Amino acid sequence: MSGTARKKILVTGGAGFLGSNLCRKLLQAGSEVICVDNLYISRKENLNELQHFDHFEFIHHDVSEPIDLKVDEIYNLACPASPRHYQRDPIQTLKTSVLGAINLLNLAKKNQCKILQASTSEVYGDPLVHPQTESYWGHVNPIGKRACYDEGKRCAETFMMEYHLQEAIEIKIIRIFNTYGPGMDMQDGRVISNFIVQALTGKPLTVYGNGEQTRSFCYVDDLIDAIIRVMNTDKTIIGPVNLGNPNPYTMNELAEKIIRMTDSKSVIVHEALPPDDPTRRCPDITTVKNMVGWSPTTALEEGLEKTIDYFRTCLF
Ligand code: UDP
Repeated sequence: MSGTARKKILVTGGAGFLGSNLCRKLLQAGSEVICVDNLYISRKENLNELQHFDHFEFIHHDVSEPIDLKVDEIYNLACPASPRHYQRDPIQTLKTSVLGAINLLNLAKKNQCKILQASTSEVYGDPLVHPQTESYWGHVNPIGKRACYDEGKRCAETFMMEYHLQEAIEIKIIRIFNTYGPGMDMQDGRVISNFIVQALTGKPLTVYGNGEQTRSFCYVDDLIDAIIRVMNTDKTIIGPVNLGNPNPYTMNELAEKIIRMTDSKSVIVHEALPPDDPTRRCPDITTVKNMVGWSPTTALEEGLEKTIDYFRTCLF
């Protein structure tokens, strides 16, 4: 970077799947990146790769505790996002979202810098409106198994909005839908990592419930591109904005596709549907299209191909 000072960017949850991909992209673009992570579920391999960059710093810290740093921008991605992980310690999940948002908003206030909050499609709960637009308020069970994540993220959105209105903090709220790709943790418990690992190791693919529930899957590179584009919009843009792929598939279709693509002899078995598992989920991405001209460019087959290759190298 000649002439101008290097931007100092904080990425919380920077050692996670999305966080580490975001850190890499920002470092490649010439920024200085401080990654804050408590390493609760993040992969050490993600960090090892980032530590090769000159302008990368890692701080082992839990965002539910205050932090004081000098930064120019904050991406708040800190929180386990897989049901398996966020349900393991629900109180801590809530604290991570809510106290994390407060602590980072206070940091944004101190630095007079902008902050992007990674929210989630889970704020729509088990939606009754399809596809989901940002104006839909959602259908969430406030005391169910998923509430620690859904309500934590909803409350974090509220804190963002109130700090924006009351304290004039520049904010961006993104709602991330299901995302996959190389770098996912094999033990994550997400459907794509489970199915691919099961197919590659000849184990039965575990479809929960009747498998007719739908999700739409966004390839990680597409999503990271969208996140950075939203962060770089002017201050009149605050969101919330949906980020995801608008093509839904049933879990049965996904399982069959992965068996076919891996040339696997695995069979499909059905297991109990987890409580409050959303029946249908699909983003309306008109807002982000109009805002920054983004829509995902990676088709599911193409992204799955790369993800299957990645898991092959992890396994064999
Ligand atoms: N799922 C499944 N088999 C698995 C893991 C998940 O059928 O081994 C289903 C799950 O019940 C849900 C969908 O796949 O309907 C997506 O689950 P995931 O945990 O990946 O994400 P989320 O539920 O947060 O959308």
